[in-house]
This record gives sequence, C-alpha cells and structure tokens, in this order.
Amino acid sequence: MKIEHKTRENVRCLIIGSGPAGYTAAIYASRANLDPVLYEGIQPGGQLTSTNEVENFPGYPEGISGFDLMADLKKQALRFGTDIRIGTATQADFSAAPYKVIIDREKTIIADTVIICTGAAAKYLGLPDEQKYAGMGVSACATCDGFFYRKKKVAVVGGGDTACEEALYLASLAEKVYMIVRKPFFRASKVLQDRVFKTSNIEILFEHNTLGLFGEHGVEGARLIKRKGESDEEEVEIAIDGFFLAIGHTPSSTVFKEWLDTDEAGYIITEPGTSKTKIPGVFAAGDVADPIYRQAITAAASGCKAAVDAERYLLENGI
Ligand code: NDP
Repeated sequence: MKIEHKTRENVRCLIIGSGPAGYTAAIYASRANLDPVLYEGIQPGGQLTSTNEVENFPGYPEGISGFDLMADLKKQALRFGTDIRIGTATQADFSAAPYKVIIDREKTIIADTVIICTGAAAKYLGLPDEQKYAGMGVSACATCDGFFYRKKKVAVVGGGDTACEEALYLASLAEKVYMIVRKPFFRASKVLQDRVFKTSNIEILFEHNTLGLFGEHGVEGARLIKRKGESDEEEVEIAIDGFFLAIGHTPSSTVFKEWLDTDEAGYIITEPGTSKTKIPGVFAAGDVADPIYRQAITAAASGCKAAVDAERYLLENGI
C-alpha cells in the first residue's frame, strides 16, 4: 500500500514505545540534542504500569510502583525536551532513508533515525479468571512478583524455558511450586528440566490444563483438568496463592516485520551487542528485541544503547 498523507513531519529521531526502553532512549537522545519525538503506543508506560511493586530496579531501595516508575521516567524525558505524543505506529516504510512511519493511520513521520521500543506482551490462557484476579494473585512475571509469595504456594503454567526458570526462581522463595504442563513432557532445555526435577518443592503436573481460579479476596486455588479428553480424564483442585503464566510472550513487531529480520517468535534481530537492525538508522531496544532477559533494567539499558547508536549514525552520515 502506498503511504502518503497530508500531514507529514520530519524528525531526526523517532522513538516508538513508552516502556523503560523508549523513555531511556528519549532521555539520552534529548540530552544529545537529537530532538526526539516519542509516540507512546497502545499502553502508555508499557507492561510495567500493570505491575504493582517493582523492587528490583536499582536506585529504589524501598521499591516503587510500576506506575510511578514509568511516570518518573516520563518526567525525566520531558525535562530534557522529548516531544512525547499519544499515538501508535500503524505502518512503516523502511525502503529508503529517511524512513516513513505512519501514526494512527493518518500522520506520516519522516525520520532520519527510528528507535523501535514497542515491547512484548505476555500470553495469557484467555480465562475470564485471569482478568478477575489480575493484580490479586495472577502474574506473568515471577522475577517481578515472586517475592510477594514467600513461604506461600504458587503455580506456574507452561513447560518451556521460561516456565522452568520461573518455577526455579519461585521455588527459592515459596513453600511449594506446582508446574502445570499441558503435555506429558517439557519443552524446556535439558539442563533446566534437570534442575526442576531435582528441586524438592516443585511438583510437576504433566498433562494438566487450567479450567479456572477461585478465591474470595484473591487467588486461593486453581481448578485443573487432568488428561483432558481421555477416558481417565479427571478434575482436580490445588490450593495456591499465586498463579504465574509462563506460556510465552508476543513481541509487538508486526508493523515492522516486513522490513526487519525477526526470529520465529517475532523478536527483532539486532547485531549482537548493539541495537542495530539490518536497516541502517533503524534500531530496536527493549523487549521487542529481547526474548531472554525481559527486565525493566535491561530494557532501559538497551534504550540507552539505541540512542547512542542513533547519535553515532547521524554523526557518521553527516545528518
Ligand atoms: P516457549 O514457547 O518455548 O514455551 C511455551 C510453553 O508454554 C510451552 O511449554 C507450551 O506448551 C506452553 N503453552 C503455550 N500455550 C499454552 C496454553 N495455552 N496452555 C498451556 N500451556 C501453553 O516460551 P518460553 O517463554 O518458555 O521461551 C521463549 C524463548 O525464549 C525460547 O526460545 C526459549 O528457549 C527462550 N528462553 C531461554 C531461556 C534461557 O536460555 N535461559 C530462558 C527463557 C526463555 P507446549 O510445549 O505444549 O507447546
């Protein structure tokens, strides 16, 4: 589709996304006089705004709410002059520099550099109870929320590397960890599986699927179905205080996929150790390019790298 709109604007540095990566890129780009324009995207502040308490972001010894952390990052970006706007990238054309990005299907931004920080979203099972107990026992990030379940009982859904890592992390805090795995085997790497098998307070429920959650003032248990569809199918209940999803993430890269290399899951591939994509002047930072760490602090660090990479690109190309 040809993308020409009446409203066009030229910018030196376009940042797409407003999680820790986007705002950190904005702080660095503003301080380097790149006059960045940042579009906040669908969920201003990103995934962290739905996290209650962040206790592992360095510099906050007492912890900080995800909402407040993002508000502070935004304030810091504004302080140095970032032009922060409401809007979502709906289309891109990286066929030639300067690059075109369409915002909300109506405005064309012509950008010398583009920093993509659109993040990723955790996958959920799609059960109404996940919504009902959001922030009341349902979480998709053990590293973020596990600490609140010290000496309690929790369940982790999934059988991949993330699920095993999260279960191992939670097992070091919680009294008991159930793993709810839909297949009769793990998908995770052998080394992680072995560690899980050797951890005495992890109980693996192979061939189990979740039907729902229950509890009056938060999650108190889960209803599961064992060997669904088989002759010995059986419903079981487990008593838990926390229900952790670890069934994968979906990176928000659809708009850019046509132009950039992505892995099987859709994560944007960058040159190792940098934020450079295969298009010169287009950079990716944060969870959209990170299938492994996915932490606020690693996202922030990669946002910094992207701004520095953008600055160097402009300098090297005399723009
Ligand atoms: P994966 O896609 O690898 O695994 C997802 C798991 O969730 C699978 O066990 C899958 O089951 C299960 N699942 C998916 N949908 C449902 C559902 N609706 N109901 C129940 N179970 C479901 O995702 P991960 O996040 O674990 O890993 C993503 C990538 O990141 C992988 O390449 C992984 O290797 C990598 N990674 C590496 C780490 C490391 O090396 N330390 C750490 C974390 C991630 P099924 O198997 O039946 O499809």
